[in-house]
Amino acid sequence: MTIDYAGIGLKSGLEIHQQLDSHKLYCNCPFLLRQDDPDFTITRKLHAVAGEAGEVDVAAAHEAGLDKEFVYQGYDTTCLVELDEEPPHEINKMALKIALHISLLLNCKIVPLSQIMRKTVIDGSNTSGFQRTVLIARDGYVETSKGKVGIWFLYLEEDAARTVSEDKNRKTYRLDRLGGPMVEVVTAPDIKDAEHAKETALKIGEILRSASVKRGIGTIRQDINISIAGHPRAEIKGFQDPKIFVDVVNKEIERQIEEIKSGKELVPEVRGANDDGSTKFLRPLPGSARMYPETDLPLLKISKEMINEAKKTLPRLRSEVEPELRKEGLDDQFIDLLFKQGKVGLYRELYYLLPKGNFIAKMILLFPKEFATKKKMDVEEVEKILEDNYASVLNLLVKKKIKESHIKEILGRLVEGVGLEEAIKFESVDVADLEEEIHKIIKSKPGLNANAYMGLVMKDLKGKIGGKEAMEIIKKLMK
Ligand SMILES: [Zn+2]
Repeated sequence: MTIDYAGIGLKSGLEIHQQLDSHKLYCNCPFLLRQDDPDFTITRKLHAVAGEAGEVDVAAAHEAGLDKEFVYQGYDTTCLVELDEEPPHEINKMALKIALHISLLLNCKIVPLSQIMRKTVIDGSNTSGFQRTVLIARDGYVETSKGKVGIWFLYLEEDAARTVSEDKNRKTYRLDRLGGPMVEVVTAPDIKDAEHAKETALKIGEILRSASVKRGIGTIRQDINISIAGHPRAEIKGFQDPKIFVDVVNKEIERQIEEIKSGKELVPEVRGANDDGSTKFLRPLPGSARMYPETDLPLLKISKEMINEAKKTLPRLRSEVEPELRKEGLDDQFIDLLFKQGKVGLYRELYYLLPKGNFIAKMILLFPKEFATKKKMDVEEVEKILEDNYASVLNLLVKKKIKESHIKEILGRLVEGVGLEEAIKFESVDVADLEEEIHKIIKSKPGLNANAYMGLVMKDLKGKIGGKEAMEIIKKLMK
């Protein structure tokens, strides 16, 4: 059916949660998801806590009614802060800077002084029973094809613990994700229709990914609020992929129309998105009793200096950077990978040292995975080693201390733990000897083309000569 969105009085806005690429927000533990067995587990029970208004929140009461036992799995990469047995440390400055970048890119006004708040969470996903959240910026906007969509608020928040398993009496959480820095972007209800919801989510997603954020499945979570005239708001949670927004919005509108027709009592509620675009009831929508001040932490001050510093280091959007990269001759597939893997910044730094785009892209995009597979190591570990060494290796190349054809071998050695000085040592081979060897190869199989000889040479003289050099000699000898 065709929906007259304006006619039915659609009101819709987004809440987008994005994990930031930094350590935890109120302690120094890494924001690192663990797949191995936990080092310890603890068991707790939580109870609904009265908010500032003195009433138990309706959402909290609903969850507490389930009366569950919570089990938490901890690691050597979690500490007493995650267990709520030590007060929070000072807010993570790096995460704050990333949040400022995002605020500026969303054209928001930064809030100079802000109270860190506790938001009641009673499903056990926070050991303390609350999540810390702090307002960083407000009153911004994004441009879309259907006009500006307002950004009401930008919060810096702690991520929750993640669910490992659940049955009727017990829910098990892993603490690795708890306390990780995250921004929540809340838009105004300016979304005009289902397609517009998708466009807005993609636009905000692009802006978030231009900043220093986590990438991949589960690092961004989107909720959408939907109401039509005569129906209370429904919040639909748990989107990974903006593409299903179109179905979800349309199906939710149809559901609300049916509900109004049925004449039953209507309540605001939180619903979960199914893969087919339909939704299911999760819980009543939380009321205002949910927030109260965090007394263990001082007011957050964001100075003019901090804002200026954030402005100076402001990342740029893909739509701005992409044409420049293309102009520099970088292949499309590399451009795409650079953005997907979040390596545009690294690429830029290295390109500045050596303006050979495709060479640098190949080095930082393809080598790490190859080494990781070959040497049975973690890709992140390999990348960490390489990122500490790329600049030094390229500098040596620029100074002609090493050959381009040796770069991969050198990087491979560094990954294995060989020191830089040792890694750049190669047997020096006399050019005359190499020519002699290549001459023999050509003579042994007459009549082949240059590329065929190239294959033979690279096989026989592996490690002794680079491809470019070999080709020059082959061409010379074939004349
Ligand atoms: Zn910690």
